[in-house]
Amino acid sequence: MVNLVLFGPPGAGKGTQSEKLIAKYGFVHISTGDLFRWHTKNDTALGKRVKEIMNSGELVPDEITIAMLKEELDKNPQAKGFLFDGFPRTVAQAEALDRFMQENNSAIHHVVALEVTEAEVRARIAKRKLIDNRADDEEDKLNKRISEYFNKTIHVLPYYKQQGRLSAVNGIGEIDTIFQSICKIIG
Ligand code: ADP
Repeated sequence: MVNLVLFGPPGAGKGTQSEKLIAKYGFVHISTGDLFRWHTKNDTALGKRVKEIMNSGELVPDEITIAMLKEELDKNPQAKGFLFDGFPRTVAQAEALDRFMQENNSAIHHVVALEVTEAEVRARIAKRKLIDNRADDEEDKLNKRISEYFNKTIHVLPYYKQQGRLSAVNGIGEIDTIFQSICKIIG
């Protein structure tokens, strides 16, 4: 059983690589962005709480995010392995995730950071906007998401690096080349 965190800025290719990793390894995919979008789309109580925050491009408070994540973990006791996508985004989330894994006698084995420059991220999201109408891809909201990444989320990297669990992968290039690099890390 391998548990993996896929890490990177908005538009780094986490979604694309997640799909390929799930097909190959059978991971249970936990994307907090997708989960929050599901809740807002279905207008659940949680969705109502996070809608404005998400649309502004800010991070949802840890307390809410961590509780949702825990619920998702508990729904999948038989998982062969988890692929976390968009989580953790803060050190408090990373610590909570380690705690949850330990409680199940498990661990996060690899953290794969997709490295993409800010210019590339902006170009990709501009392209995505043409086909996928996400409210938080508008200019000011996108700026907020990118600044949330570089101000808050980036601090998660040293947390994993100190523990020797971090592997960086160049996120610019052919989708398949990037995928092969990730597979090598998983082993
Ligand atoms: P991105 O394309 O910016 O990586 P996601 O689809 O992963 O976006 O997430 C969309 C939004 O959902 C974020 O801007 C944030 O508001 C919220 N969100 C998702 N994951 C988290 C998280 N781990 N912590 C806090 N907020 C989150």
